[in-house]
Amino acid sequence: MAFPHLTIDADKIEHNARVIVDLCRAHEIAVTGVTKGVCGNPGIARAMLRGGVVSIGESRMTNLHNLKAAGVDCQFMLLRLPPLSLVEDVVQLVDVSLNSELAVLAALSDAACRRSCTHDVIVMVDLGDLREGLWPDDLDAFVEAALRLPGIRIVGLGANLTCFGGIIPTEQNMAALVDYAIRVERSFGISLPWISGGNSSALELIASGRMPKRINHMRIGEAILLGHETTHRRPWPGTYPDAFVLHAEILELKTKPSVPIGERGEDAFGKMPVFTDRGLIRRAILNVGREDVSIEGLKPLDQGIVILGASSDYMIVDVTGATGPVGMGDTLAFHPDYAALLAAMTSPYVDKRVLHSVDHGGAES
Ligand SMILES: *Cc1c(COP(=O)(O)O)cnc(C)c1O
Repeated sequence: MAFPHLTIDADKIEHNARVIVDLCRAHEIAVTGVTKGVCGNPGIARAMLRGGVVSIGESRMTNLHNLKAAGVDCQFMLLRLPPLSLVEDVVQLVDVSLNSELAVLAALSDAACRRSCTHDVIVMVDLGDLREGLWPDDLDAFVEAALRLPGIRIVGLGANLTCFGGIIPTEQNMAALVDYAIRVERSFGISLPWISGGNSSALELIASGRMPKRINHMRIGEAILLGHETTHRRPWPGTYPDAFVLHAEILELKTKPSVPIGERGEDAFGKMPVFTDRGLIRRAILNVGREDVSIEGLKPLDQGIVILGASSDYMIVDVTGATGPVGMGDTLAFHPDYAALLAAMTSPYVDKRVLHSVDHGGAES
């Protein structure tokens, strides 16, 4: 086994999706499962769909191409704003996209007309997180212009929070989104079937029963993948936090001092490393590094193991306190956080293995 590998438990992801979908359903909210954190992995998308999500949301057209090519058959939502340069693809591959620029809507309209189809859009409103979305004052003029574009159907309003500005969803900002939708409906005599309130940061508000009634759609990734909400990264009741495990092989296992010897300069990444003197320690060097993973986001499954640091291709861990036996050639296991998961999924040097813990059906793509 030359590469480190990431095992992905599809059954745990399916279960997590079901827990989140059931919660949302109880509050009359539909869930789109978001696979951008796992590069649109088809096995994970299928697990989410088995768990009851109504569609798959992706940020990258490449991932959408891969999902379609792998035969994943469902509605697809494009989460990242469509680029002007890819409107043909968007109209062809995507059932609904999130939008905030009139120039893009005009181009999507042209593309849809050329294909004699209709493209559904959700208009994004910025509720204060200052990532994508229209400023509420500009909403009416935007909708007025958008309604004149043939081939474009506005199916709802959406908002995204807790991503750039760290603003959390509240009864107030969600109610504001509903009010904007009602204002648009009245001003233009249209109905907006979808109000897409947010992402994994909205779960606590939903569970508390304080999510305003008309919010009826969520786009959920991290909570399904890693089993926690994202305003405080609290474990979500009834979900598995451990669907993903990174396994790396020991390349060197030796007892060495815990503090480097000699005159000290910067490390490989321009930092001055800090060391705690623990005397002699038993250290393992693993075949995974910063090229593959964000090591700050890894947690050893064996809680007696401590991550000391990493360079591009090596991670160094203190195994002195390991609870189990550790030998040359063994693999050590780690749980990744979202950033580490993203890096591992993106690295071509990490094998991805989708497994089924329940039916032991072996690996799929
Ligand atoms: C990433 C993303 C989501 C999903 O966010 P999670 O925190 O993974 O649930 C939802 N909506 C948009 C627009 C996104 O970019």
